[in-house]
This record gives sequence, C-alpha cells and structure tokens, in this order.
Amino acid sequence: MTKTDLPVTLADIELAARRIDGRVLRTPFVPSASLTERCGVPVGLKLEHHQTTGSFKLRGATNAVLSLSADQRARGVVAASTGNHGRALAYAAKAEGSVATICMSRLVPENKVAEIRRLGADVRIVGRSQDEAQVEVDRLVTEAGLVMVPPFDNATVVAGQGTLGLEIVEAMPDVATVLVPLSGGGLAAGVAAAVKGRVPKARVIGLTMERGAAMKASLDAGRPVAVEEVASLADSLGGGIGLDNAVTFQMCRALLDEVILLSEAEIAAGMRHAYGEEREVIEGAAAVGIAALLSGRLGRLDGPVAVILSGRNVDMGLHKRVLDGVADPFAEDRT
Ligand SMILES: *Cc1c(COP(=O)(O)O)cnc(C)c1O
Repeated sequence: MTKTDLPVTLADIELAARRIDGRVLRTPFVPSASLTERCGVPVGLKLEHHQTTGSFKLRGATNAVLSLSADQRARGVVAASTGNHGRALAYAAKAEGSVATICMSRLVPENKVAEIRRLGADVRIVGRSQDEAQVEVDRLVTEAGLVMVPPFDNATVVAGQGTLGLEIVEAMPDVATVLVPLSGGGLAAGVAAAVKGRVPKARVIGLTMERGAAMKASLDAGRPVAVEEVASLADSLGGGIGLDNAVTFQMCRALLDEVILLSEAEIAAGMRHAYGEEREVIEGAAAVGIAALLSGRLGRLDGPVAVILSGRNVDMGLHKRVLDGVADPFAEDRT
C-alpha cells in the first residue's frame, strides 16, 4: 500500500473543504508564547475546541451528511459515539433537515448525553463499550433503514477531519511537526493526509492515553486488535478501532511517524497548562499535544510545531478538580 492509493487523498479533503465551507467555523491558529519559550521552536495552537458543538467532529459529520442523497437524509442517520461525534452528528443532521439517532455506552459522562438530547437527537444508552453500542447501530441500520455515519472509520468523515490539516498548513506554511490527538484515527488520518499532501517533509505524531490505546496496540500488532476500555481523563479517546477497520488503520500505519502514550498525570498537566498559561478550557483528549510537549517524551522536535486542541466538552466539576491538582481522578475506577 503506497501513499497514493490510500482511501482518502488530498483531493478528497480539498473537495470536503469546499463542501463544508460556511457550515463549520474556520477556527483560530495562535502562537503560544509559553510553549515556544519552553520548547525553543515556534509552537502554534489550532484552537479547534472553539468549533461549533465544541470539537472538530463537526467537520467530518457535516461532510458525511452533505454527501448523502436526499432519500438517505430523509431516512435519518445513526451512530455510536462517546459524545463529541454524537453532538456533531446531531447538529449536522438538524442543520440539513435530517434526524440523528445516537447510541452510546454507559461510560459516557452525563453532561455529554444531555447536550446531545438538547441538539434534537434520539439518544440510546446501550452496553459498557463502544462495541456494544455499535451492535444497536447495526440493528437500526438493518431493521429501520437508518444510514450509519461512523465516528472515524469512513472516508467522508476522514476527509472532513482533514480540512483541519489544510487550515494548519495555510496558517503555518513551513510547519515541520503536527501533534494530533489519536483514538480511532479519523482526525490523525485526515490531518496527516492533508498536511503531508501539502508539506511532504512534515512529521505527524499521534498522541493518546496509556489507558486503552487501541490504535497504538493495533499498529504494534500489524492488524486491528481490541483493548479493554477504561475510564480516563481523555474520555473522548476511549473505544476500539473496530476489528474490521477499513480506512483509518491503514492510513495511520502509512502516514503517522510516531505514536506516543501519555499518563493521566501528564494529561492533567496539559489541561492545567492550557488554562493557566493559554487561558483555554479544553478536555483531556485535547490536552495530549501540550502534555507531550511538557512531558519531554518527544525526543526529536523539529519546529515550527502545530498543536491541535481538539475539543472542550469537559464536565466543569472535573475540570476544576484537575486545576486543583487532582492528577488522576479515575484512579479508583481501575480494576
Ligand atoms: C474524537 C476525538 C478525538 C480523537 O479522534 P479520532 O478521529 O477518533 O482519532 C480527539 N479529541 C477529541 C476532543 C475528540 O472528540
């Protein structure tokens, strides 16, 4: 598999950018004085947590809904989601005159469930993992004719997320390193395809939590593997990549230069830095890029560096506990 016959190309991402233009925000890209000083190379932050619905997931969901036929849109869309994809799909479906049904596991925080209901979606809580929620999605597709829009393993979703990479290169044309949060790999695959399509020399590094790093385990195994799902500060990075993964696994394998794992304490430090130094409220999943810079785990660091802050949908009580210095709020949940 070479880079030219991957499922999503630079041209697909450029088409997605034209399609979703005006329907999603073009989020700010700002220099970080504190991280630039600490790292000794220019560091810029892509403030994608300011996106409508609070995360980049609106890009992929909007591109996916706009790619459907009128008949498919009338039947409605369905997805399993740990929260942010559900919010995004609920919003995107409503904006285009459709309805979303969102299935999610019981590990998803209550604030995310309530937000999705408020956005007009039909929410179904099923099982203790994304995989179990997915069984209900499959049932609704076969029995009720709904159209599945997956959170990451889908070419139109990946192309939509990739538009974020185009905006980074436009803001920082000589970007050398991009730090991207990694779970199912839709964001990382799209951003890497866009960035490397425009700047072939750039390195793209995926960051995720030590607890339940499904893509990392899969890349190491050479095929998609399942991992146990455990509560983490970075709850938006939870869940498997799907044993029948068709898009993101091969793209991450071909395009990511490295994947680095972060502890709960490091993710907490990233959230504290974002708030204390950058005045930004971000969720744990969005803090992994800053966490990696602060941790010293990135051996070689070529600048300029672009860091994606991917979302802000964090329970504010939890955010406050992290600011107060609780390094690992989920430690008691470990088995
Ligand atoms: C979904 C999500 C991620 C991970 O994206 P994948 O495409 O699943 O790798 C990272 N950060 C936030 C805030 C998210 O919602």
